[in-house]
Amino acid sequence: MFGGCQIPLIKKLLKSFAAKGRPQRADPVDPRLLGPEVHGLSPVQVSKGARQVVKSLADAGYCADLVGGCVRDLFLDKRPKDFDVVTDASPEEVRQVFPRSRIVGRRFRIVHVRAGREVIEVSTYRAGNEDEAEREDSAKNKFGRILRDNVFGTRDQDVHRRDFTVNALYYDINTNTVVDYMRGLDDIEAGRLRFIGDPLTRINEDPVRMLRAVRFKAKLGLSLDSDLEDLCRNHARLIRHVPPARLFDEVLKLFHSGHGVEAFWLLREFGLLAELFPEAARSYGEKDLDPNTGIVLKGLHNTDLRISQRKPVIAAFLFACVFWRAVRLQCDQQEEKRRNHPQILQRAAFDVLGRETQRVMIPRRVSTVVVEIWDMQSRLETRRPRMIEKLLEHRRFRAAYDFLLLRSESGELDPRLATWWTDIQECDQPSRQKMIKELGSSGSPRKRRKRPRRSKSPNGNV
Ligand code: ATP
Ligand code: MG
Repeated sequence: MFGGCQIPLIKKLLKSFAAKGRPQRADPVDPRLLGPEVHGLSPVQVSKGARQVVKSLADAGYCADLVGGCVRDLFLDKRPKDFDVVTDASPEEVRQVFPRSRIVGRRFRIVHVRAGREVIEVSTYRAGNEDEAEREDSAKNKFGRILRDNVFGTRDQDVHRRDFTVNALYYDINTNTVVDYMRGLDDIEAGRLRFIGDPLTRINEDPVRMLRAVRFKAKLGLSLDSDLEDLCRNHARLIRHVPPARLFDEVLKLFHSGHGVEAFWLLREFGLLAELFPEAARSYGEKDLDPNTGIVLKGLHNTDLRISQRKPVIAAFLFACVFWRAVRLQCDQQEEKRRNHPQILQRAAFDVLGRETQRVMIPRRVSTVVVEIWDMQSRLETRRPRMIEKLLEHRRFRAAYDFLLLRSESGELDPRLATWWTDIQECDQPSRQKMIKELGSSGSPRKRRKRPRRSKSPNGNV
């Protein structure tokens, strides 16, 4: 899979550096300074915004490198999602260089620098060693979990707090050199993901690293050794200690990585799915886990496809798929004739979302849309003639219709219903009116609900 990338070019040259008898855990080794004839990268592969930021920092007298996923992805011949810059300037100093920037984050303070249409994340080298951890700006709790990581240091120190060897390559575009402290290039070449330092300590410090491992395995096809996989399985419950808002961001990165289906299976395999979404994970039966009939798998597959076609995706659609079975199960506990009542569905929706958001905080802006998508299902199924035009214009129609299609494909609904909604969107106005009219005879007329009479209370108030 790494054919076509810089690896074949540097493979031979790196041979002379090859570490013999290297342990599975990556420990600091002498940094390798690689010139362009070895690393084969070129600054033009870096976005214009990131180049500008590095140059301005250098002009102001600071060191600045590209680091993390962007360098890793350049070596893998993949398009970097974003370009992260790391520097010896403190966040305040970075702000002085770029007046149009702002400091964000508390646990980990970084600067967002605007460069044209890009926003470049600039972080300061962290020290993060044990002694420093005693200081106020860098803190771990009694379980060794990192609470804050804001003690600044040098690049040689910074490398130790990065998660994986492949994410610890520093590319200085001013001198066109790459510094590889942890044999990250060997790991890229071997297609493997290795933690820097002791894996259990690193997971303990920040359990999100397990989700990151899943993401890089799913997205980049990097392999984890079996010990590391066991470690994730045995420590999946540490995820409970991560703030729910942070988990939402990480889950979204996983499901919107373009490899959501793969990520789903890996999460399940490592027991992480049950930790993130306990009720949803419990609700999945055989049909839900079959790619031909499972709504969640179909939803993820659709999303992967849309991302590969560079089409927009929305988080709410995915979460509507993830929790649908759990919501349906709660509705099914009602007596038969009440099961599909909109109010029963709404109750179940709020209950399930309420319980599940204890672990992964789904922001209200997303959960509101999830409920709207579910809520529209019964209206799309009922097809009340007078409501058709309104439904077609509804701002959630598209997402609700896509969801209806999935339900139909998974055998939950009569496929003729989905076809009807597809046809009515595609036909001209006269045909549309005809379709609506034809419904009229079969459509169930709206029953007026009788309001119960309000009796007067003893004190005369209504
Ligand atoms: P992506 O392609 O998704 O952007 P990435 O590796 O660049 O992948 P970022 O979240 O952008 O991920 O982080 C940039 C870099 O910061 C990482 O490559 C890694 O070196 C470091 N990093 C990020 N999160 C962690 C973490 N939880 N623990 C240790 N290092 C981290
Ligand atoms: Mg990144």
